[in-house]
Amino acid sequence: PTMAHSKALLVLENFIGGKFVPCSSYIDSYNPSTGDVYCRVPDSGKEEVEAAVKAAKEAFPIWSSKSPLERSQILNKLADLIEHDLEAFAQAESKDQGKTITFARTVDIPRAVHNFRFFASSILHHVTECTEMPAMGCVHYTSRAPVGVAGLISPWNLPLYLLTWKIAPAIACGNTVVAKPSEMTSVTAWMMCKLLEKAGVPAGVVNVVFGTGAKAGEALVCHPDVPLLSFTGSTLTAQRITEKSAPHCKRLSLELGGKNPAIIFDDADLHQCIPTTVRSSFANQGEICLCTSRIFVQRGIYNEFLKRFVEETKKWKTGNPSDPTINVGALISKEHLEKVRNYVKKAQAEGARVLCGEGVDPLALPPGNQKGYFMLPTIITEVKDESCCMQEEIFGPVTCVVAFDTEEEVIKRANGVKYGLAATVWSGNVGRVHRVAHRLQSGLVWTNCWLVRDLNLPFGGMKASGIGREGAKDSYEFFTEVKTITIKH
Ligand code: NAD
Repeated sequence: PTMAHSKALLVLENFIGGKFVPCSSYIDSYNPSTGDVYCRVPDSGKEEVEAAVKAAKEAFPIWSSKSPLERSQILNKLADLIEHDLEAFAQAESKDQGKTITFARTVDIPRAVHNFRFFASSILHHVTECTEMPAMGCVHYTSRAPVGVAGLISPWNLPLYLLTWKIAPAIACGNTVVAKPSEMTSVTAWMMCKLLEKAGVPAGVVNVVFGTGAKAGEALVCHPDVPLLSFTGSTLTAQRITEKSAPHCKRLSLELGGKNPAIIFDDADLHQCIPTTVRSSFANQGEICLCTSRIFVQRGIYNEFLKRFVEETKKWKTGNPSDPTINVGALISKEHLEKVRNYVKKAQAEGARVLCGEGVDPLALPPGNQKGYFMLPTIITEVKDESCCMQEEIFGPVTCVVAFDTEEEVIKRANGVKYGLAATVWSGNVGRVHRVAHRLQSGLVWTNCWLVRDLNLPFGGMKASGIGREGAKDSYEFFTEVKTITIKH
């Protein structure tokens, strides 16, 4: 690149021990909506991770001995500071990730703010257990203490949202952290680091090391002084993390992929179900672990559903993510776009029908976005349950629609994948809704709605979708070590 070009690039630095520190080598980061390199991300490795873990260890005694109230006030202050800069954060997230500015403004950044406020509050309300044994003259109680340095590894789809979902409970409980965001979406984490000192977060409590999974991520996973790891990402990476951390018997929380079904019975309120299912399939370009990608529709309403679902999907506009009227932005990378497109090609080769989107409808892009990684929302039908499009996580704007006849049959088919993260059930029959919800192998079941979350309750997946849960009580339990103490009087 020319001097003028390289000057315009945003260059990130690691945040270690309360200071920004440059790195010896960097990775290019692309703006997915233009295809241009616009940012350079530190390519950290063992050395940088070592420095960050050291800083986190040094900060632990002071931070862990603060009262929950003191920590709560600092978390609230950080939430206020992020909220104050909400627009700048939203613009940065949209540019870095390709997501629409509207989604970043209304979902990503508000949720990051809420994550800090939520754990600032919930940390004040935990109680521990106590039991008595009068005959023995004993009383037992439990006490909980922070574990130490937590390693936090997050993906590229909801960058600040998912990173803060880990940082907030980890530090609220009194741990210190070394976080490694995705190398593809590091900007908002770096922006957050700039606010930590002002919020009153002591140096070394939150350290952020940027870089790839293979180098920076693995150095963190293998570090002997990081006893717990909270990871959100793909099932494949989780397997590797499990293997690499096994010699140290680390505590793991793994939030992984999904292949989420929507089950639509013939008594569903289609007026609500159709727009919600368009959203659950295509929101954030389908790059949400909770997105619907297998839609089972009861035979009696199948044709009507399909017609209206395609019509509603076609209303979604794909284009420049910074335009607030756009519904579908750019996918994260060129490689990912190719991968998602290939699934559509494979389905067609197997004899499936593409009703709209990829390869069927024209994609008109503004001049500045011609090299961006865009794809239209795509609906596939006449596809077999065994097809890779019905079995594997595509993680893009692609959804499959198939017909079913009975409740028994659809439960079996919905459960017939290796994943078990989220499911959606649409029916006006409350008995059926309960029956089906109980029998689905899924960590979350939404009925007659999608993505309505109360952070108090457990979040996480079954089967290949993960191990462990996060939420008010679950995150508290994960990020603390419990001890049972017996007193004889
Ligand atoms: P990924 O597994 O490729 O990467 C996730 C993170 O792990 C990144 O920071 C990456 O750099 C790091 N990493 C990669 N290899 C590593 C290694 N060997 N050691 C340590 N760290 C390593 O996932 P992704 O492509 O960034 O994200 C998409 C995936 O995340 C999808 O499967 C999606 O379903 C899943 N996801 C799950 C949830 C959930 O809560 N269950 C939420 C969002 C995304």
